[in-house]
Amino acid sequence: MPFNFPGTLVPLHLLINPRLVVPQMIVKDIRQLDFPELRRGGYRGAVFDKDNCLTRPHRDTLVPELKDAWDECRKTFGPQNVLIVSNSAGSHLDAGEIQAESVSHHLSAPVLRHTSFKPSYSCIASVRAYFASLPQPIRDEELIVVGDRVFTDTVMANRMACHERVSTPAPSHADEHPDAVEDLSKELDTSAPARSPISSSRVRVGPLAILTTSVWERDSPVLRRLEMQVVKGVERWVVNQGHGAARDWTDVRYGRFFKELAMPEVLRREEPGFVRRLLRRWRGE
Ligand SMILES: [Mg+2]
Repeated sequence: MPFNFPGTLVPLHLLINPRLVVPQMIVKDIRQLDFPELRRGGYRGAVFDKDNCLTRPHRDTLVPELKDAWDECRKTFGPQNVLIVSNSAGSHLDAGEIQAESVSHHLSAPVLRHTSFKPSYSCIASVRAYFASLPQPIRDEELIVVGDRVFTDTVMANRMACHERVSTPAPSHADEHPDAVEDLSKELDTSAPARSPISSSRVRVGPLAILTTSVWERDSPVLRRLEMQVVKGVERWVVNQGHGAARDWTDVRYGRFFKELAMPEVLRREEPGFVRRLLRRWRGE
């Protein structure tokens, strides 16, 4: 695995903004995404990781089980609006862009050429430049970003997001106590309109960060487990401020985009590692 310098800087960024690691949705694989519903929800484009998301690591062909979902995705968003952003194919390590060409051919989708690994801001600039160059440009908040790694794919999606303060009129006294207004109008002889106080809240504006958890081929299990522990810790201690467990990842906000697998049993189970096999043998399992 190549050394990912931008990835190693992520823990430092987390000290400032730990929410960077929190995805908006967690699914087993892309078959659990309702692409037509995402399109109806205003999402017009998609960024996909390659290794262990669409293909087995270091392979150029789609995992056969994902064919129908992938076809539906490309049909729903349009072939040019689905971009593969990989830290292998299309990166500066892909000599002669041979792997990018091969992946693009097998998956029938464009592969981003970029000089810096995810989740660097340079890579984000390349993603934005691609979607801005389309005949009908796509904004960050109209994208879904799907990948299997928290410190690269999820962090990249969250770095593309910003938080805007949205002001909404707070419910006025009149709304809550209509009778009181009637009484008050009798006492006050004024035609000036009543001014409601304004309440403001911060709203995340950016791509939908979707984490996939199915591993098609064993790859960095310790790091993956560590990443998930960090996500759960941030969920519990930062997002929920120490109260309650991590939320249901298919919660009401994004549940409409979630699709139950027709045949959950076909999901591939991760092969046990050396230590787990040793433990099983020791237990006589
Ligand atoms: Mg991956």
